[in-house]
Amino acid sequence: MSLTIPATSTEEVTTLIGRAASAAKIWAATKPSERRQALNAVAAGLDEAADSLISIAMEETNLSQVRLQGELKRTTFQLRLFGETLDEGSYLDARIDPADPEWPMGVARPDIRRQLEPLGPVVVFSASNFPFAFSVAGGDTASALAAGCPVILKAHSGHPRLSQATGQVVEEALRSAGAPEGLFAVIFGTESGKTALNDPRVKAGSFTGSIPGGRALFDIANSRPEPIPFYGELGSVNPVFVTRAAAAARAAEIAEGFTGSFTLSAGQFCTKPGVLFVPQDSELPELLRNATLPAAAPLLNSRIQSGFAEVLQDLTGHPDVQVLTSAGDSLADPPAPTLLLTSADQLLSDPEGLFRECFGPAAMVVTYANESQLLDVATLIDGQLTGTIHGEPNDLIAPELIRIMATKAGRLLWNQWPTGVSVTYAQQHGGPYPATTASTYTSVGTAAITRFLRPVAYQNFPQNLLPEALQDSAAGRIPQRINGNAS
Ligand code: NAP
Repeated sequence: MSLTIPATSTEEVTTLIGRAASAAKIWAATKPSERRQALNAVAAGLDEAADSLISIAMEETNLSQVRLQGELKRTTFQLRLFGETLDEGSYLDARIDPADPEWPMGVARPDIRRQLEPLGPVVVFSASNFPFAFSVAGGDTASALAAGCPVILKAHSGHPRLSQATGQVVEEALRSAGAPEGLFAVIFGTESGKTALNDPRVKAGSFTGSIPGGRALFDIANSRPEPIPFYGELGSVNPVFVTRAAAAARAAEIAEGFTGSFTLSAGQFCTKPGVLFVPQDSELPELLRNATLPAAAPLLNSRIQSGFAEVLQDLTGHPDVQVLTSAGDSLADPPAPTLLLTSADQLLSDPEGLFRECFGPAAMVVTYANESQLLDVATLIDGQLTGTIHGEPNDLIAPELIRIMATKAGRLLWNQWPTGVSVTYAQQHGGPYPATTASTYTSVGTAAITRFLRPVAYQNFPQNLLPEALQDSAAGRIPQRINGNAS
C-alpha cells in the first residue's frame, strides 16, 4: 500500500523513543487517578473530534458510518473503563506477607510485599480492521498508558491519515491533562516499526494482524540482545461445532445466525466463524445452500483484498471443496460472500489445506457423519481465539468437546456467535499460538493491562520507602492480599 504520509526517519524514531524513555520515569510515578484523568481526556477528545475522524475513516477503510460510530463509542468506553480499573486498584495485585517467625516452611518468613509495575516504553502495531478500537487510541494504547507505559504507535498503512489525525487528538488530550511530553507518538512506515522494536529502550511490543507479520515481529522481539515480551494477536479460524441435537432443534436459527456472523463487516473480524461443522443428514447444508447472503462490499484495502482472493482461490481449487453458495463473483473486487463445502473426513485428511483462515466474506461448511468426528477435529486443530458449540444441555458429546476446546481456544461460546468481542472485566481475547504469541494474556478487557506490568517484590522495607499500594496505610483504599487473603 502506498503511504500518503511520509515514513518516519530512523533518526526521528530514535528521538521519539528517547522522549518516551524520559516520559516513562515521570508517567510510572504518576498516581493512578492522574492517569485516569488523562485517559478520560483522550476519550473526550475523541468524542469531540468524532465527526471528522469518522469521515476520514470512511474514506480510508470502506467501513460504514454506522460501524465506525459504534467502534468509536467502543474505543472511548474502553479508555474510560481502564480509568475505572486504575481507580479500583486490584490491577496492581498488591500482596503483603508480613514477617512470620513461625512460618511452617521451617525458616522464618521475612516481610515480603509484591505489586505490578510498569514495564517502560511499548511499541504498538495497530490493526487494519478496527481503525479505532485496535488502532491509534485502541485497547493496546489504552492499556499500556493505563499501566504507566509510554506508547510509540506504529500506524497501519491501511489508514495513515486517520492514524495521524487520531494521534493529534491523543497527543493534545494528554498534553491538556498534564501528561509528560513524549508519552505518546505515532510513527509511519514498515521499517520504522522494526527500528522501534529493536531499540533497547523499548520494553514490550503488541500487535494485531497477520500470522507472517506477527511472527516476523515476534522473532525480532525475541532475538534482540535483551528479548522483550511481544503480545501478538495473529490468526484464527474460530470453529463452530453444531451437535445433532442442536441441528434438529433449531437449524433455521443456526443458519441465519451463522450467515449473519461470518458476513459481518465483510468477514473482516479476527473472530469470524470460519468453519461450521454440521451433521450431514440435517437440514443445515440445504438451508445454507439457499441462504440469502449480503451483496458484495469492498474490503478494507488492497492487501486484504488480494490476501482474501489468494486464500479463497486455494480453497476453491482444492479437489475436496465445492462452492455451496455465493452471492456473485467471490474472486472479484469487491468479493461476493461465499460458502464452501467439504466433509469432516476430507478435512481430517488434509487439515492444513482445508482448516484455514480466509480473512474476508467466506466460510467453510463441513458435514460430519458421526459426532465423534467433532472430537477428532478439536484434537487436531491448532490454537484459536474462539471455539463455539451450538448444542443442547444434555448432549453427550458436549463435556468432552468443551474440555478439548478449552485447551485450544481463549474463549468458548455456547449457542452464541464469536463476532462482537465485548470489552469487560472477564473478557479473554487470546489463545494458544498461532491465535496469539502469548497465550497467557488477553488483548481485550481490563485484564489486558497486565501485559504491560511486571511483578516486583520488596523484602524488609520500611513503610515510607514502599510503593503506596504496599503500605499498611493503603488498607481499605487499595485492594491488598494480606497473608494470602484478599481484602
Ligand atoms: P499485517 O500485514 O500483518 O500488518 C500489520 C502491521 O504489521 C502493519 O503495521 C504492518 O506494517 C506491520 N508488519 C507486517 N509485517 C511486517 C514485517 N515483516 N516487518 C515489519 N512490520 C510488519 O496485517 P494486515 O495488513 O492488517 O492484514 C493482512 C492479513 O492479516 C489479513 O488478510 C488477515 O489475514 C490478517 N489480519 C488478522 C487480524 C487479526 O485480528 N488477527 C486483523 C487484521 C488482519 P505496514 O502497514 O507498514 O505494512
